[in-house]
Parts: sequence; C-alpha cells; structure tokens
Amino acid sequence: MSSYKYEPRVILKSHLTNHFTDHLIADLNKENNQRQVVESMFSWVTPVKPSHPKLIHVSREVQQELGFSQGEVTSTKFLDFVTGNSILKTSKPYAMCYGGHQFGHWAGQLGDGRAINLGEINGKTIQLKGAGPTPYSRNADGFAVLRSSIREYLCSEAMHHLGVPTTRALSLSLTGDLVMRDIMYDGNSAYEKGAITSRVARSFLRFGNYEIFAARNDIKNLRRLVHYTINTYFPALGKPSKEVYVCFFQAITNSTLEMIIHWQRVGFVHGVMNTDNMSVLGLTIDYGPYGWLEGFDLDWTPNTTDRQHKRYRYGNQPNIGLWNLYQLANALYPLVEEAAPFEAILEDYKTCFKTKSQDMMRTKLGLQRSKKIDQDLIAQLEDNLQASETDMTLFFRQLSFFKADAPVQGIQFVSEAFYRPEEIQGTLKEQWDLWFTRYASRLKDENINYQQRRKRMNLVNPKYVLRNYMAQLAIDKAEKGDYSLIEEFYELLKKPYDEQPHSEQWFAKRPEWARHKVGCSVLSCSS
Ligand code: AMP
Ligand code: MG
Repeated sequence: MSSYKYEPRVILKSHLTNHFTDHLIADLNKENNQRQVVESMFSWVTPVKPSHPKLIHVSREVQQELGFSQGEVTSTKFLDFVTGNSILKTSKPYAMCYGGHQFGHWAGQLGDGRAINLGEINGKTIQLKGAGPTPYSRNADGFAVLRSSIREYLCSEAMHHLGVPTTRALSLSLTGDLVMRDIMYDGNSAYEKGAITSRVARSFLRFGNYEIFAARNDIKNLRRLVHYTINTYFPALGKPSKEVYVCFFQAITNSTLEMIIHWQRVGFVHGVMNTDNMSVLGLTIDYGPYGWLEGFDLDWTPNTTDRQHKRYRYGNQPNIGLWNLYQLANALYPLVEEAAPFEAILEDYKTCFKTKSQDMMRTKLGLQRSKKIDQDLIAQLEDNLQASETDMTLFFRQLSFFKADAPVQGIQFVSEAFYRPEEIQGTLKEQWDLWFTRYASRLKDENINYQQRRKRMNLVNPKYVLRNYMAQLAIDKAEKGDYSLIEEFYELLKKPYDEQPHSEQWFAKRPEWARHKVGCSVLSCSS
C-alpha cells in the first residue's frame, strides 16, 4: 500500500459510541495541564492537530472488522480521523487515569500520557497513540516517534496472527512534525519524525486503572469501575457482588496466564511488564522495548533500563505475571475484605503455570500424550538450547523434520539453528545426542505418524516472527520515506505458520551485524 489517493468527498459513515465515558466519571477540570486527577476515571482532551498528516499503512484486516470501506480509508476524512486532525461529530476524546507499579515500585499516577481514546466502533475502542499531551503526560510531550510506532504497528498485528491475545492496530501515520528524543539516554538528543498509531481493543483498561483508586483509598470509584468492567466485559459472571469480584479476579488471572504462556511459546519478551502495562482482558498491550528471542535464553531482556536486574527477562515473565496479579488482588481487596479467596487463586496460578507451560512445551515437541518423563525431557532441552546459543524459531521449526528412527543424526536436522556450530562438540554434542535419543524413544509412545506430527508442530511453532533486526530494517527504510518493508512484513506475518517460499530470507538466523546494534538487540524506553 505505497500510495494513497485521497477521495475528499467520501464521508466516514462510522458512528462512535461513548460507552466508557457515558458510564464513568469525568474529571471536572477541562484544562489540558499536567496534574493529579482524582475521583474520576478520565479527562476530556483534544488531540493536537498534526501539521502534515500522512497515512503510511492501514491494517486491512482491522479496517474490515471495523467496517471501513476501501473508499473510506483512502479518504482525507479517514486520515483526519486517525491522526486527530479532525474529530468526528460522535467522538468525545478522552485520556484515562491509571497508576502502576513500575519495576517493582509504586509509581503513583501515570495515565494515558500520549494516548487519546476517540470512542468505540462495534464495541472496540479506537485510541490514537502519539496524538499530543494530556493531563497525564508528566513533563513528556505526548508524542510518539516513527520507529517505535512502526514497532508497535507491525508487532501487534503479527501477534494477533500468531494467535496471541493483543491490542490491534488500525493505521500508522506520520504527523509531519518533529519530536526530540534521546534514544539511549546518553545526552545525544535528536529530532525524529513524529507518528501516530491508531490502536484498537475491546478495552484498554489496565491493572493500574484499579490500583490508582485503591492507592487513594477511593473505594467508591474503585467499586464503580469494577462494576462497569464486570457488566461490560464479564457479564456472564453475573450481578456484581463479593463472590463475583473474586470470580472477576479469577478470570483476569486465567487470561493473564494464558497470554504469558503464548509469549513463552513464540519467544516474545514484553520488556516492561509494569502493572500499568497489564490489560484486564489479558491482551498484550503497550509495545515498547519488547524483543523476540533469537538465541534461546531464559535470562534475556531487550530493555536496556532493565539490563542490571533483568526483572522482565524471558524466563521471569510468568513470575512477574503473578507478582502483578498480587498487586491487582491488593487493589481489589477492599471490595471483598477477605484475603483467602485471592490467595487461593494466586496459589493456583503457580500450579497452573507449571502444568500449562509443560503442556505448551509438549505441543512444541509434537507430543500429544502426557508422560512422566516429559518434565525431564523439556528441562534437558532448555539446558541444551541455552548452552548452545540456539535460534529458538529455527530450532523448533526444523525439529519437525526429525526422524525418530535415526536419533544419532538428530542434531543434523537442527544444525541451521546454532549460532556457533563449531562449539557443538565434546560434552555439548554428547548432551544433544543424548537428548535426541530420549526424544526419539519418547516419540515412539505417540501414535501419530511423521507427517501428522510435522503438521501439528508447525501449527504452534511459527516459521516467521518479527525478528528484532527485521523491525529495524523496516524502520531504517521508512525513515528515508520507503515503506515497502512495512507492507512486506505486514503481509508475511499474517501467515506466520505457513511456508512462504518467496520469503525464505526471513527464516534465517539474525545476521551478525545485528547482534549488538541499537534497535536490534538493545532497546530503550525512549519512544
Ligand atoms: P510506558 O513505559 O510506555 O508504558 O509509559 C509509562 C507512562 O509514561 C504512561 O503513563 C505513558 O502514557 C507515559 N508516557 C510515555 N511516553 C510518553 C510521552 N512521550 N509523552 C507523554 N507521556 C508518555
Ligand atoms: Mg504503558
């Protein structure tokens, strides 16, 4: 979608509803200055008009889901809509108030500092990320740069097609304005192109939306927001009551765990799992310094801010999910006034996490039955993967070719996945041979044939993910005005489990030049 020919006469037919703002409490102060906002869930705001808005890409899938015709998305009206250049008559833009625990500490009020919600279409909220300051901007500018907007745009759509619950993206646009950023926080600030991603989700409510009321001991509004959430998104739970609040927490716990298991399966590392970045609907939200595992490494984090303690490292994501759920439980506690039901759910998370992650790993290995030895088999595999610097995506995809009748040659099937093949010798080679022998004998306990197993494995082990350097290549081109890689990756990542013979070049290990390059393996929160 390289050029948009605008049809100025097309009128957007969409009507926005304002369910969130109609049912919740607005900040009485209508000034757009930075401040503490109390006893309300949101503030009215107006997006800043971009000087030269330009549409770069539209997700055709999301476009269709929202009911926009092709004629509409090529209209100036649409461009104006998704960049905040003009506000539709039925839209009442607002920014949400929330707080959050950041890196393990209560950070107080945060809120939509650069996200402006326009209202809902077909029950989905449309939000502009990077459309200017709000009362929650905390001395920042409210804008977003092109590089981080491309990363969010491509990755959220890719995650959806991988089957991972996520917020979606409708469009990516340039504002035509420049934004100052210090990418590595090292005093080297520079101007970058400003951009806006229009994001879409049933709800953008986060754990932090509830935490802020609990922290301020504003139980009336906490209850009001919880009732709203249950009635709107969890109606099957029934009329809000103490029991229903607990069921509500259980539902959030389940979907959070589900989401994190998916992350572990595809090798996605969120990078900033603060409680303000945890969706109550269990959606992956706020794509910042995220990254994809290339070499399988439980200790890896893409986020430079987290380099020291690695709180948000790949292998720790399930624990952090639990930690965040504790914070949400604390926030909901005043409504229930009993700790035991929460503790039981949190305790259960630990067991469920172990079972579900074993089940998930079994599917990656093409195992349908559950056997006692699987735990060891999986643990040994993880040790080997970690010890050998093995490309996770390549490994699991190639593993599907493994033939159980020739276990000693097992390693040949996956040799492409090793970043340092010359190191696979001696003890390491023996460990791999041992593992393949065990895997081969374990496969004999399954009653599916080679073809069936391959097919199953390829449904859960993606062939294509948005490797960190791929996003960076798309960014480098886009900075020069060439958006072709955005379109190429958007299409490629719509079918991540399929063979796509013309795109084999993206089914390859990360090139060496990208190993330590900023944007490829080193990401900051500056966006
Ligand atoms: P994040 O780390 O992206 O989840 O952001 C944490 C908080 O900082 C949220 O409240 C954001 O809205 C806010 N924030 C991040 N970047 C900006 C920005 N450029 N302008 C205003 N607020 C921002
Ligand atoms: Mg955030």
